Amino acid sequence: MHQYRCDRCATTSTSYVLRRDAEAHGQRHRDDHHGGDHPDGESILTEPLRLPERREWGAMAVVVALILIGLANKLW
Ligand SMILES: [Zn+2]
Repeated sequence: MHQYRCDRCATTSTSYVLRRDAEAHGQRHRDDHHGGDHPDGESILTEPLRLPERREWGAMAVVVALILIGLANKLW
């Protein structure tokens, strides 16, 4: 997950799956708040995708099963 961070405004964007979406957020922020300039201390924060915790495995198994059933129905 990726977030745009502006230290000057002390704000962090929502999380984006794609880095380019966080970068686009940064461009909008620069245009809206900094006249298009790059403020000091801006950055793209990156976190690895979080693996589901053990208590979430049941729900994950249901979602994966539904996806596999959907794919099987499309193939046959
Ligand atoms: Zn800013």
